[in-house]
Amino acid sequence: MTIGVDDDESAFSGLHNGEGLEESWLRICARLKDEVGEVEYRTWLTKIALGPVDDDEITLLLPTRFLRDWVRSQYGDRLSDLWHQEVPFLRRVELQVARAGDPVAPTPPASRPSAPVQAEESAPTRPAVPDRNSDLVTALDSRFTFDTFVVGKPNEFAYACARRVAEKPSSAGFNPLFLYGGVGLGKTHLMHAIGSELLKTGQVSVAYMSAEKFMYRFIAAIRSQSTIEFKEQLRSVDVLMIDDLQFLIGKDNTQEEFFHTFNALVDAGRQIVVSADKSPSDLSGLEDRLRTRLGCGMVADIHATTFELRISILESKAATSGVVVPAKVLEFLAHKITSNVRELEGALNRLIAHANLFGRPVTLEATQDVLHDILKAHDRRVTIEEIQKKVAEHWNIRLTDMSSARRARNVARPRQVAMYLAKQLTSRSLPEIGRKFGNRDHTTVMHAVSRVSELMERDAAFAEDVELLRRMLES
Ligand code: ADP
Ligand code: MG
Repeated sequence: MTIGVDDDESAFSGLHNGEGLEESWLRICARLKDEVGEVEYRTWLTKIALGPVDDDEITLLLPTRFLRDWVRSQYGDRLSDLWHQEVPFLRRVELQVARAGDPVAPTPPASRPSAPVQAEESAPTRPAVPDRNSDLVTALDSRFTFDTFVVGKPNEFAYACARRVAEKPSSAGFNPLFLYGGVGLGKTHLMHAIGSELLKTGQVSVAYMSAEKFMYRFIAAIRSQSTIEFKEQLRSVDVLMIDDLQFLIGKDNTQEEFFHTFNALVDAGRQIVVSADKSPSDLSGLEDRLRTRLGCGMVADIHATTFELRISILESKAATSGVVVPAKVLEFLAHKITSNVRELEGALNRLIAHANLFGRPVTLEATQDVLHDILKAHDRRVTIEEIQKKVAEHWNIRLTDMSSARRARNVARPRQVAMYLAKQLTSRSLPEIGRKFGNRDHTTVMHAVSRVSELMERDAAFAEDVELLRRMLES
């Protein structure tokens, strides 16, 4: 479970200290508990203690060798992933057998109410299905209803399909309903809306969960030898909704299980609703027979937002906030923040919170001030190629050396700076950046980012160079 270590350069700026790590650990435990369920969590994971933190490495301690091996084989990768989400610069998560005298922070007990950060798609309101299935579902978010969904050209078809399924589940031609589109465009919102609408009638049972959760539930069922119950539970619902199906790519066993559940439900005349980031035909990596079946009902695409839709959404959200937001400000936001509804909403919420807190009217000026960082991020349109070019010119190296395997310092250092700037100035992920630099691993990029930050702190002249490059690229 060790994270790949890059050998590119030396010193690594470590974690600095252990502060905040206990909170991270609490959050990780809460997520794990959510993913694996109470019983499994209590059986295995409460035995883990947070051990010594050494520079860029975290040690988790287990009381016996058996437990350590078991936890490593069953949860090692997941623990590692979760730790990386909390501490991006972490290099390793080690599992060790505890020795007397190790400083430890124990895992919170299973019965403890959820830890500081709530799981995704939180805000539980009411159980979505009767008790017998309650461990199968994530509660529906009461804010995500049809009433609060703003309809426009890009989403009207998906909206109409969702409404239709909520009114008359399992109608011919609409089963399965497959919703797809980019991040933050309203897929989850529509699925919750379908669920809430159906539950109003009280006649049907609805199960909603992310594909990720489906997988963890399935794995937990295998381990606790309760797959039969798991299958029965799933197959007893009237409507099954699985969000973010793309998560199952590469998870063959879970896909297989989902396929059988899917068929059993459709054959029994139950409704399936699935969301993903791509259309069934573009979800390469899903088994063909599953893709074929997913495309058999209704496939509805949610397109990127238009200016008009963004304005309507902002108007609707502003109207319910109790704060007066001038049309000029709404237009400004709709022009600037075009990526997705989630970000748009976030910007407006921040503005509203600010207005409430300070009791000042919202103006264009105040908006630019309060949203300074968000707006800046959206102004940047710089590409990794531009960064590589500018950096190569600055240090007088060849552009091809940005992706070459050469490791001489006069080439490696500029390359690291370019990676650092790519991370700072674009919204590309570490693996994406790595790919643009001669297919390097994401850990190499991570290492470059921390190395450059460290050098900038130590070496004022170097820091000035990097800042200069940044300003040139930003303008
Ligand atoms: P996805 O699941 O497609 O990534 P979500 O459904 O989570 O996106 O939507 C992100 C946020 O944007 C949510 O808070 C949601 O309520 C909001 N949202 C998205 N589309 C709309 C819309 N058409 N009207 C109102 N709110 C929307
Ligand atoms: Mg979603």
